[in-house]
Amino acid sequence: MEKTIAINAGSSTLKFKLYEMPEERVISSGAVDRIGIPGSNFTIKTTDGKKVEIDQPIENHEEAVDLLLQELIKLDIIKDYNEITGVGHRVVAGGEIFEDSALIDDKVLKEIEDLKEYAPLHNPANATGIRAFKKILPNITSVAVFDTSFHETLPEKNYLYSIPYEYYEKYGARKYGAHGTSHKYVSQRAAKIMGKPLEDLKLITLHLGAGSSITAIKDGKSFDTSMGFTPLAGITMATRSGDIDASLVVYLMEKLNITDPEDMLTILNKKSGLLGLSEISPDLRDIIDAADKGDKKARTAIDVFVNNIVKYIGSYATEMGGLDGIVFTAGIGENSVPMRKEITSKLGIFNVKMDDVLNQERGERFINTEDSAVKVMVIPTDEELAIAREVEKFKKMGD
Ligand code: ADP
Repeated sequence: MEKTIAINAGSSTLKFKLYEMPEERVISSGAVDRIGIPGSNFTIKTTDGKKVEIDQPIENHEEAVDLLLQELIKLDIIKDYNEITGVGHRVVAGGEIFEDSALIDDKVLKEIEDLKEYAPLHNPANATGIRAFKKILPNITSVAVFDTSFHETLPEKNYLYSIPYEYYEKYGARKYGAHGTSHKYVSQRAAKIMGKPLEDLKLITLHLGAGSSITAIKDGKSFDTSMGFTPLAGITMATRSGDIDASLVVYLMEKLNITDPEDMLTILNKKSGLLGLSEISPDLRDIIDAADKGDKKARTAIDVFVNNIVKYIGSYATEMGGLDGIVFTAGIGENSVPMRKEITSKLGIFNVKMDDVLNQERGERFINTEDSAVKVMVIPTDEELAIAREVEKFKKMGD
C-alpha cells in the first residue's frame, strides 16, 4: 500500500501526518518538538490511536526525520521505508514564482531558500525539512505546497500597496497573503456541501487560529485576503498586531528607544494582538473566561478582534458585490461557540441568521437558520490532507 507523508517543518519543530493513498486514510501523525534545543521530544500516534512519547536529544531536522522513520518501523506502522512513495512539504512563502505546488529539485529548493526575506521565520525552516527528507529518502516524489499559491489569483488592485510602483517591480513589495492551502480546502468543501460549483459562489473564509486570515473567494479564486506582504497584516491575532499605521511603528521605535527594526517586529509579532490588548494570554479561551468574570481589558480585546473580522467581512462582501456563504475554520473558527455567535450577530445587514443549536454541534455543518440570506458553515480545515492530495497529483503525472 502506497503512503504519503505531509510535513510542516518549523525552525525547531517537525509535524507530520502519514496517509495511505489514494484512500486518504491517516495511519499515523505526530510531531518532533524542540529540535536543537534542550528538552527535545517526539510524539507519535499509532493507527489504533495509541500515543508514544520519546524524550531524547534531537540535534537537527535530519535526526528528527531519521528518528521518525525508525519509529514508524518499530511501531509496525510501516515495514519498510520504500512504502513511503511521496512527501509533501508546507512552504510558507512562494512569492510570485510559485502559482502552484512544485516538484522539488535543486532549483526549486534554491528558490525557496532565496525567498527567505519574505518569510524569515518559516522558509529557511521549511527548506531544512526538505533537505532532511531528500537526504534520507532521495527517490520519492517530493512536492512543495505553498501557503501563498492560492492567492496568486489576486487582482492587481488588491495586491498592490499605494507606494511607488517601482518598489513592487524592483523588490516584490506587494501583498502575497497566507493560509492559502486552508482557504482553498475549506472553500472547495463549502461548494460541495452547498451543492453548487465554487465558480458560481461568493464566499468569505475565516481562518481564525493563533494566526488568522480572511479571504474573499470569487469565481472560484482568491480575490482578496487579509494577510499582506507577510502574515503580520490583517486582523488581530493571538500575538500579532494585524493592520497598523506604518508611522505608528516609527513613533513607537523612538518612544521605546528601539534602534533595531527586528526588535520592533518582535513586539508586533509576539507581544501584540490578543495578548497585547488583554495583558492576559494569547489564548482566546483564557480571554473569554476573564471577560466573563468582568475583566475589562479582556472584553476590549474581544471587541477589537470581533470588530476587525466584521469590518473585513463588510468590505469583502462589498468588493465582491454579494455574499453567498461564510466559512469558519481553524482553532477558534472550529471550536469557539461564543465567537461564532458574536461575529454572526453583527452581520444583520446581510441578513445572516445563525441557528444556536447547530452552532453548538461539532464537525462539518451549516449553522445558519433556514431563512438566513447567507449560508454560514463550520468546516474543519485539513491542510495536511490538502498537501497529501497535491503529492498524489504529481505522482499521477509521473506514472
Ligand atoms: P495555528 O495558527 O497555530 O495553526 P490553530 O488553528 O490550531 O492555530 O488555533 C489555535 C488557537 O485556537 C489558539 O490560540 C486557541 O486560543 C484557539 N482556540 C482553540 N479552541 C478554542 C475555543 N474553544 N475557544 C476559543 N479559542 C480556541
